[in-house]
Amino acid sequence: MNLILLGPPGAGKGTQAEVLQKRLNIPSISTGMLLRNAMEQGTQLGKEAKEYIAKGNLVPDVLVVNLLRERLSQSDTNNGFILDGFPRTCAQAELLDTICSIDKVLSLEVKDEEILKRLSGRRVCNRCGASYHTIYKPPKQDMVCDNCGAVLSIREDDKEETVLNRLTVYHSQTEPIKEYYRLRGKLYIAYGQEEVSDTTKEVLRVLGLE
Ligand code: AMP
Repeated sequence: MNLILLGPPGAGKGTQAEVLQKRLNIPSISTGMLLRNAMEQGTQLGKEAKEYIAKGNLVPDVLVVNLLRERLSQSDTNNGFILDGFPRTCAQAELLDTICSIDKVLSLEVKDEEILKRLSGRRVCNRCGASYHTIYKPPKQDMVCDNCGAVLSIREDDKEETVLNRLTVYHSQTEPIKEYYRLRGKLYIAYGQEEVSDTTKEVLRVLGLE
């Protein structure tokens, strides 16, 4: 299955992608993570992406699409994949349709006030991509990844001012994609719950994977 997870920053896409990747045995691909890795490695693309990400703006389509195209050409995606954070614009959705076919798009809905509360406690693992929350999903050991043992970090772009801009960008540029997929009969909607496990139940139910 080729699946897209849509939703505002902090909706829990990464967390649900982890569950779905184990359940469906297909890789989850986060363009945000690919970009952060490129920045850490100091590649040309990483350098170009840096200022956009720091301000909470979208990185130009051409940079992200090439990065994604390269990732999708790897053989582990042959049986399907989960996209987390792509597409972010209608232009990206149209480009994606020229690269592969998408089966389902799950929109994970969470209100802006809740997002602001959530992102202040978010902690991420830059090595394996796992995400945690100080209250909702704490790691077993403070600031250490349960999966791979790496030290967790706080994302640069999770500061309040940047989060507010990322939400504005989401509503103006990404949310219209829902209509794109609704018109094609591919849109499924799940409502984020307070408990991660309840959101997972909702996601699996909506996708018919219970
Ligand atoms: P994320 O980890 O998905 O929240 O992405 C972090 C940041 O990376 C975003 O705020 C954007 O600046 C950039 N980014 C990630 N995915 C995309 C995309 N598909 N198109 C443009 N920019 C992106």
